Amino acid sequence: MRQRNKPWADDFLQENKHIVLQNPNQYHNNWKDFFGNNNPIHVEIGTGKGQFITGMAKQFPNINFIGIELAKSIVVAAAQKVMEAGQDNVVLLNENAADLLEIFAKNELDTIYLNFSDPWPKNRHEKRRLTYRTFLEQYEKVLHPKGEIVFKTDNRGLFEYSLVSFSQYGMKLEEVLLDLHAHEDPTNIMTEYEEKFSAKGQQIYRCKTTFK
Ligand code: SAM
Repeated sequence: MRQRNKPWADDFLQENKHIVLQNPNQYHNNWKDFFGNNNPIHVEIGTGKGQFITGMAKQFPNINFIGIELAKSIVVAAAQKVMEAGQDNVVLLNENAADLLEIFAKNELDTIYLNFSDPWPKNRHEKRRLTYRTFLEQYEKVLHPKGEIVFKTDNRGLFEYSLVSFSQYGMKLEEVLLDLHAHEDPTNIMTEYEEKFSAKGQQIYRCKTTFK
């Protein structure tokens, strides 16, 4: 997702640090206290401009949502959506998913969403894919034993790669859909990429997987 750098992004993030939290490591093992309740915690990695996470926060007010987005200019757009939504069960982090273990403690999360993750199609970039083994090792640590990963993509190559990666890691595939939109799922919140690609007639793949 390309977006021009916004020079005012730093000022915006400083003024809105109640939405895009700074130094999130301070909440490590304390996220329930941060939200002030015992509700489940769901994290979206690569949250983009925030349509999914704000939609989910509205649909499920008894779940706490954290969106992680690496690109500063993009997290600003997501923050504007969160502000408009006015929900108190969603915050954002301008962080790299590679640092997940510094942000969350063992078993702290209930669900991780990977939505339209960058496919990194070249073999030499395999380690950057968010479904590569080293990322799965991190997800396994921060997820509750019964927690799940929900992965959506339009990219068949990344989907196939990820199914193999999950299986080789010994994970259990709970659901595999080759055409998500052909199934009735009123709870499905579309991401920006999902809307764009499905409008072009592309199939959307989804799988749900657990660490058994
Ligand atoms: N999930 C959104 C959607 O479906 O519309 C955005 C999809 S976009 C292809 C992937 C997003 O993931 C980009 O905004 C990118 O900056 C972010 N991203 C990529 N690698 C990341 C990482 N390691 N940690 C956090 N965000 C990352």
